[in-house]
Amino acid sequence: MDFNFTLPVNIRFGAGCTGGLEGYLQAQELERGVLVCDGFLAKNGAADEIAAKCGGRIKAVFSDLVPNPTVKNVDECAAVMRYAGADFALALGGGSTIDCAKAACAVAGGQESIRDYHSGGKTLCAEKVLPLIAVPTTAGTGSEVTFVSVLTDEEKGLKAPLSNPALLPKLALLDPHLTYSMPPAVTASTGLDVLCHAIEGFWSINHQPLCDAAALDAAKRVFSYLPRAYENGGDEQAREQMLLASLEAGIAFSFPKTTGCHACSFPLTNRWHIPHGEACVFTLDYFTRLNAECEGGRLHDFARGCGFADAFAMAGEIARLKKALGMRCTLREMGISEADIPELAQLSLHPNMKNTPVAMGAAEIEKMYRELL
Ligand code: NAD
Repeated sequence: MDFNFTLPVNIRFGAGCTGGLEGYLQAQELERGVLVCDGFLAKNGAADEIAAKCGGRIKAVFSDLVPNPTVKNVDECAAVMRYAGADFALALGGGSTIDCAKAACAVAGGQESIRDYHSGGKTLCAEKVLPLIAVPTTAGTGSEVTFVSVLTDEEKGLKAPLSNPALLPKLALLDPHLTYSMPPAVTASTGLDVLCHAIEGFWSINHQPLCDAAALDAAKRVFSYLPRAYENGGDEQAREQMLLASLEAGIAFSFPKTTGCHACSFPLTNRWHIPHGEACVFTLDYFTRLNAECEGGRLHDFARGCGFADAFAMAGEIARLKKALGMRCTLREMGISEADIPELAQLSLHPNMKNTPVAMGAAEIEKMYRELL
């Protein structure tokens, strides 16, 4: 066995953990910050609250970003960082906000567009990256501990991850209270994304033992607590457990990388505007059945660890959970017709598909989508 694991992010978890921000900034001698958040968090008071905890060090706010952030959002955010003379950034929000801030921090030290790195083949330079503090408000992507920024290039019709250790935040502050305001639909979609990260990280052909352990722990928490968080957004225990699951699942997929479900999600989001988590979980039960027997049946062991009889029973529960949490479970429900299937299948051939243990080409993907029509 051999594996490689590095996670140089200081992780602080718990109610009120953002209270230590001023002390941290002082200790790190960081003086000029840009707060990155989306429009919702700019308006609901959360942005002002966190800025107040930085002791006057937030010099500008950037909130002009969309879900599934674009390269344009990133370039504009980086321009604000340059103009403000920022020596750090603070991202408050879901994966979209954190990903936008991560990528902007990576290019703020120069004049280039993030497109040069996202699709232009250039490699990020770690020395020029602004330090980032990530504060997630969804549970979620785990973006606070991953070296990935998922960006959309509208001009190129491309949604794809940019991966580089230079993108890792320096500090992750996880306060479950910040997730209480998520409405049920966001709780469901983001929570099912956690399940995808855990299960895909586990079965990825690049799986490794530390990530496997995190994956199992995360999946167990999702099966137990996501229905409760969905039913009652004020359920303290469920919110806390889901934020922890999101963190663990981020660790679980960061090194093994995501697989077929995420590959299929990119066109569903990019072309048909399905929210990220809902798009990822759309194929999770199908891929679970497909991969059930992979590598000597290790997915059956995983399923048993989660309390199911085997991987097929776990697939059945995923299908039930999706429906119970209001996710669309057929292509037609998503407004996608039979005629769209060849295009959808082609667009699903993202490189992450190759991390899936049971190989899928365009013909197999088309067959899957016909079953999911
Ligand atoms: P998001 O950040 O896109 O937010 C979804 C919606 O929820 C937005 O309207 C936002 O305003 C709202 N929201 C966020 N927090 C809220 C709160 N506490 N209360 C009420 N509303 C809230 O959602 P997400 O699922 O966290 O992020 C999705 C993005 O992250 C996608 O672009 C996806 O590709 C990417 N992603 C990145 C990684 C990574 O490792 N970098 C991993 C998985 C997904």
